[in-house]
Amino acid sequence: MATATEPAPKYDLQPYKSLENDELSRRIEAVRGELGDRLLILGHHYQQDEVIAHSDLRGDSYQLSQMAAQSSDCRQIVFCGVHFMAETADILANRPEKLTERDGRRVQVVLPDMAAGCSMADMAAIEQVEAAWEDMGEVIDTNDITPVTYINSAASLKAFCGKHGGIVCTSSNAAAVLEWAFQRTSRVLFFPDQHLGRNTALTMGITNDQMPVWNPFDNDLGGHDAETLLRSKVILWQGHCSVHQMFRAEHVHQFRERTPGIQILVHPECPQEVNDLADVSGSTGKIIQTVQAAEAGTKWAIGTELHLVNRLKAEHPEQEIHFLSPVICMCATMYRIDLAHLCWSLENLAAGTPVNIIEVDEETTEWSLVALERMLQVS
Ligand code: SF4
Repeated sequence: MATATEPAPKYDLQPYKSLENDELSRRIEAVRGELGDRLLILGHHYQQDEVIAHSDLRGDSYQLSQMAAQSSDCRQIVFCGVHFMAETADILANRPEKLTERDGRRVQVVLPDMAAGCSMADMAAIEQVEAAWEDMGEVIDTNDITPVTYINSAASLKAFCGKHGGIVCTSSNAAAVLEWAFQRTSRVLFFPDQHLGRNTALTMGITNDQMPVWNPFDNDLGGHDAETLLRSKVILWQGHCSVHQMFRAEHVHQFRERTPGIQILVHPECPQEVNDLADVSGSTGKIIQTVQAAEAGTKWAIGTELHLVNRLKAEHPEQEIHFLSPVICMCATMYRIDLAHLCWSLENLAAGTPVNIIEVDEETTEWSLVALERMLQVS
């Protein structure tokens, strides 16, 4: 991934940090008015409410990137999410056919705070994945492994999958993607989220003893003997989401004891012990739809990011909605994008000195698109 060369910003970030939210909101709206349809502010479902209030579109990472890429007027995207999401938006908005439609002009994608990364995506660096692939090749024919990356990963990993006959998945199509992979090879390497990989494969009859977890810090075959790897169906990467990892089986038991009739609704990035106990497990989209479709008076304990659960609570007062964990589980990196960073990045954009442009290099874009397009054929 390359960050485009940027002219020196007209405005420094520091003074924005001492402004009141009302002032920041007023100035953000002024830039939105000035740039009109050329600008799209994208707000991920896990984003804080103050930022969501200024978003043109709200959704999960892939949905947002797709919606923004479909807009014919949009020339600038400010992605209030995390780094890999902005990369995906850049890849989809600037794919070859879109560039041709715009006479070669790129859509600029801005991430208001470059420190807004994703702990899960960071757990699988391309160098580690390449080294693991080579090590696996000592005992397994890698032509018989399909690499599958969750969309929550760096563009370099998506490109790795594109180059090696692999594919991208989201939390809503992971099962279909694994089916696709098993039609081609007898094994899958699934990264970076071990929980989504495991929870999905378990529903397909694959057992835990067929799913070794590859430790990228263990140079001896990821911590396994050759026999274990030869027996494997899905090799899981040792990565997880620091938010969803916090939910525990005891939280489910406590709610069921305290609140008769409560239903447990979780994201499949949660550990298996939680996912197995849940009444419903599904993507962010499925969680939202499940709550929207429920009857008044339904009781839920929801295991996903705190901002989304609080928003569902506010939007559905007719239901009883609880957060599944007694401890706060929020996406701390996404939370870095606040009104100060949003206002600062927007005013620089309007001044012609954009900051924090995310631009994926041509080769990575090309191979990432191969893996993304395979996913689109499946789902
Ligand atoms: S919630 Fe988890 S997977 Fe999603 S962006 Fe935050 S750390 Fe990454």
